[in-house]
Amino acid sequence: MSLEALRADITTLFVDAIVNAANTTLLGGGGVDGAIHRAAGPALLAACRALGGAMTGEAKITPGFRLPARFVIHTPGPVWRGGAHGEADLLAACYRNSLALAVKSGCRTVAFPCISTGVYGYPPEAAARVAARETRAFLKSGATLERVIFCCFSDEDLALYDALLAEPGA
Ligand code: ADP
Repeated sequence: MSLEALRADITTLFVDAIVNAANTTLLGGGGVDGAIHRAAGPALLAACRALGGAMTGEAKITPGFRLPARFVIHTPGPVWRGGAHGEADLLAACYRNSLALAVKSGCRTVAFPCISTGVYGYPPEAAARVAARETRAFLKSGATLERVIFCCFSDEDLALYDALLAEPGA
């Protein structure tokens, strides 16, 4: 089992599932969501329409259509409102529910973007801590994943994850 960080455009990754930092409508948006919809093609939006939205922290799955990834797991992250509005628990739920859905769908390799740290304003280091902690806890519980990737879009985010993953407890 490997837990790793790399710098990449998540739409280019050959993994079983990529996770989309969606919004609650699941009907597309900017940032990584827009990039995923552009790369997957219009069939993704049609599939998302049938899902009927999702609550913050929930996860829902569609095929990847034109993406190299077989599936897209859509999870709306929390909007940062100062940190005292349950943001960390909601972000943790995004990681936990996405991983559980990946396992349930037979995935062995999963890639995450830095959920909520773009337009939603979650401080990147705090978000990376939640992501690393929650993913490690999930993997310790005996799940059957082979590879989880934290797909960073900036060198700054990659440096954060590299440091966190090097900490003891990995
Ligand atoms: P949110 O609304 O959850 O904050 P954003 O898409 O605005 O979502 O940003 C989430 C993260 O995704 C940011 O770190 C942003 O730099 C990153 N990102 C944007 N495009 C891509 C992409 N093509 N691949 C991977 N990460 C991306």
